[in-house]
Formats: sequence, C-alpha cells, structure tokens
Amino acid sequence: MYALNYVKAKSVQEAAEFLAANPEAKLLAGGMTLLPTLKQRLARPTHLVDIAGLPELRRIEAKGGRLVVGAGMKHHEVATSAVVKKAIPALAGLAGEIGDPQVRNQGTIGGSVANNDPAADYPAAVLGLGATVVTTKREIAADDYFQGLFTTALGEGEIVVRVEFPLPKKAAYCKFHHPASGYAVAGVFIAQTAGGVRVAVTGAGPGVFRWSAAEAALAKGLKPAALESAKLDASGLNSDIHADREYRANLVRVMAKRALAKLSGKK
Ligand SMILES: Cc1cc2nc3c(=O)[nH]c(=O)nc-3n(C[C@H](O)[C@H](O)[C@H](O)COP(=O)(O)OP(=O)(O)OC[C@H]3O[C@@H](n4cnc5c(N)ncnc54)[C@H](O)[C@@H]3O)c2cc1C
Repeated sequence: MYALNYVKAKSVQEAAEFLAANPEAKLLAGGMTLLPTLKQRLARPTHLVDIAGLPELRRIEAKGGRLVVGAGMKHHEVATSAVVKKAIPALAGLAGEIGDPQVRNQGTIGGSVANNDPAADYPAAVLGLGATVVTTKREIAADDYFQGLFTTALGEGEIVVRVEFPLPKKAAYCKFHHPASGYAVAGVFIAQTAGGVRVAVTGAGPGVFRWSAAEAALAKGLKPAALESAKLDASGLNSDIHADREYRANLVRVMAKRALAKLSGKK
C-alpha cells in the first residue's frame, strides 16, 4: 500500500460533496475489489471515502411491486433476507453464491454494480430483471446502465444509492463457478417479467448482455428445447485459460437450460 487519505463520510450527501471537490478520490464500500486494486497499483486515489454502514444505503424493502435494495447491503444480508427470499428468491440465491463467506460478509451490491466486473453475478440479475439503478443524480434503467467491461453509465462522483427490482412472475439464475474465486465462467439469469422474457448473461462476454435470440425463442414458452435453435455468436465471447469462447458459448446454453429447469421447480 502507499500513503493515501481516509475519510469516513457521515452521509451520502457529504460523500458526494467530497467527491465533487476531490475528483481523484474513490468511494470505499466493502473494499473487496478496491483494496486488491490499490495493492496492485491499478488505482491510486488521493482519498478513500468510506461509505460503509451509512444508514441511507442500508435498506431492503418490498413495496409497490418493487424490491428496493440499498447499495450498502452486503451479499450475505441479501442472501438471507426474508424480504428478498419472498419477493425474488432467485436474487437471494444469486447473492448466496457470490465468492466465499468472507466476500459475502464484506462486499456490497452497490460496489458490485458500480464495478461491473464482466464475471460478476449481480449485473445478471439487475439486467435480467430490468431493474433501475438509482444514484445521487438520477435513475438509470439497467438496459442503459451496463456499458461493457468495467464500464457503466455512472458519471464522475455519481454514487449508487439503491437498486429497484420490479417483481418478476418468476426468475432463476444458474452459473458455472470458477472453482477458485466463485466468479461466473458463465452465468444466466432468466426472468418472466410483465414486459416479457428477459435473459441476461454474465461471465461469457466482455460485459453482461441480453441474449436476445433466447428471449425470442422463450417468448413462445419457457421450454429448454426452444434454446437449441437460439443463435449465440461465439466470436465476441471471452477466451482465456479458463475456457475458450466455444466452450463458453456451450456453457451459456447449458446454464440457460438449468435456469429453466429451476424455473419449473426441477433441480
Ligand atoms: C476472492 C473474491 C471472490 C469473489 N467472487 C465473486 C463472485 O463469485 N461473484 C461476484 O459477483 N463477485 C465476486 N467478487 C467481488 C465481490 O462481489 C465484491 O465485493 C464486489 O464486486 C465489490 O463490492 P464492494 O462493496 O467490496 O466494493 P469496493 O471494493 O469497496 O468498491 C468497488 C468499486 O465500486 C466503487 N463503489 C463502491 N460502492 C459504490 C457506490 N455505492 N456507488 C458508486 N461507486 C461505488 C468503488 O469506488 C470501487 O471503484 C469476489 C471478490 C473476491 C475478492
């Protein structure tokens, strides 16, 4: 580590004002991604602005057909919340599959959504459910929010305050874990929403994306056989030492079928 300044924010507004006055400062939530990044010198902020535990970021509430999850809620809290389990069980299940117990007890949904790691789990749920990311400045629809590798619509100094998920008719998530980290080598979130079927894929490409051919195929019925003919171009998928792009393309189809099996109540 190198010398930097630490600031404990007393409110979201104070954190936002500090960021506006110090453009090289960075927010610190669970630190699960940021601290390793600092150790590797991939980021060298002048200040860390600690927002962990701020009451405004710590809410879970189901109201008006939406599940509201504050940005400061940790993965373990989402996984074990009775409200989340009742409203969107697939979201609780997804949170419970992130990393390991240490990561789940520190990492937050806000940090995950802000970071937008291409293999992270929450982006699949946020996009798959057509959620809204609410920031200190505006409300951003999931379809506009995720913009590729570690890139989001967030502007300088913009803080994620909460994520609002419309309640789906049903939803399921299935991922092939990386055996060491738990990140998704490929993960598929399928939701039957008021606006139709949505299929979001994480881990396989440079960023989370909607698999539109699968959405079209499943619109006629949530049947695994429909996925056989759904086109998935492997050429834009990730290829690395863990899995090449053709293998990932196959994994996406397999994970989608498993998610459909979960939807129909099968394991
Ligand atoms: C060993 C290991 C295994 C992991 N496995 C998985 C996995 O299987 N699946 C998975 O999805 N993730 C995994 N993760 C990542 C984990 O979920 C992180 O906790 C998460 O990505 C970041 O959350 P955080 O609260 O720790 O954010 P931090 O590390 O504190 O911050 C991350 C970034 O987001 C910014 N930020 C934080 N909060 C906000 C906010 N409210 N508004 C705007 N910007 C903000 C920070 O400035 C920073 O740039 C793993 C991490 C580790 C270390």
